[in-house]
Amino acid sequence: MNPIQMVDLKAQYRKIKPEIDKAIQEVIDSTAFIQGPQVKTFQQNLETYLSVKHVIPCANGTDALQIAMMALGLKPGDEVITASFTYVATAEVIALLGLKPVLVDVDPETFTIDPVAVEKAITDKTKAIVPVHLFGQCCKMEQLEAIAKKYGIHLIEDTAQAIGADYIYANGNRKKAGTIGTIGATSFFPSKNLGCYGDGGALFTNDDELAQKIRMIANHGQRVRYYHDEVGVNSRLDTLQAAILTVKLRELDSYAASRQRLADVYDQAFSGIQGLTVPVRAPWSSHVFHQYTLLTDGSKRDQMKEFLESKAVPAMIYYPVPLHMQKAYLDSRYREGDFPVTEDLCRRVISLPMHTEMQDDQLAHIIQTVLEFFNTGK
Ligand SMILES: *Cc1c(COP(=O)(O)O)cnc(C)c1O
Repeated sequence: MNPIQMVDLKAQYRKIKPEIDKAIQEVIDSTAFIQGPQVKTFQQNLETYLSVKHVIPCANGTDALQIAMMALGLKPGDEVITASFTYVATAEVIALLGLKPVLVDVDPETFTIDPVAVEKAITDKTKAIVPVHLFGQCCKMEQLEAIAKKYGIHLIEDTAQAIGADYIYANGNRKKAGTIGTIGATSFFPSKNLGCYGDGGALFTNDDELAQKIRMIANHGQRVRYYHDEVGVNSRLDTLQAAILTVKLRELDSYAASRQRLADVYDQAFSGIQGLTVPVRAPWSSHVFHQYTLLTDGSKRDQMKEFLESKAVPAMIYYPVPLHMQKAYLDSRYREGDFPVTEDLCRRVISLPMHTEMQDDQLAHIIQTVLEFFNTGK
């Protein structure tokens, strides 16, 4: 058996090596490393895939979130609501821009932002909500859209973990994650569902004017070279990364299918185990399983992780510390106990290896090891 990894990027590369190597070589031969034609090709292919009017590639997912907030003209002191259970990048850019992060708790079943809590947190300073489509499924967007509309505020979707997921409206209509709010922001970090071979990111919008502004901000605030209309940033997607992503975008749906097949097998193996809850699949979203995250009863979580690791089964805790208890984000407005669902999740979650290249013998070993842990009552 080959060693099991949380994410197996080598095996994935091996399957598309000729296409990837050719794409990379073409960029090097052309030396068009910045804004080469492959960037536009990738942008257009992704627009088609997502059915969104504008994709604006940028340097990484954190930048995408920051540029989104800059493009919406958010000013220091403006409040931005986001989930207390998320990756730090979401809150980081809010703080960096001098905006005020307002945290709210999440839904205990899907781990995504709770729209009821969002509405309660709205004040006359609230300018935007950042729903995070955590672990590969969409937040309750229909409710969030209604709230955003009612209060005249923007939705910036953090879809770094859910590219390709479908949001399913009550009437059956579908939209791709990231194309529902005013702006969507995503990441092409290597381990994301659509990952490049370095850093990368993108913004999505259906608003022509906003798209122009985003494009300008991402490129030093210039529309015409050396004429700077706004304070911008340097955040471009490398041509090399765009060339790689063009190849990998063609595989995205089959990658999602592989992840879903793996999740189905895990679900079947683990659903009977007392003290273990398999991921809840929301009826309002497809699940692209960026992570396969189990809920333990808490007391055994760390022991389980140690046991798995002792048998060469990697496992990760996404995330061990809620945002409001991170040293950098300690804030007199919040204290332990304020976000009970988030705090509970941080004690109970454990994520298993999830990627597109799992071998049968590896999968059998992971399942066997989890079962062994629970049978021995450790
Ligand atoms: C990965 C991630 C980001 C940041 O993306 P980078 O490309 O690493 O900057 C933002 N939000 C979430 C939820 C993420 O998972």
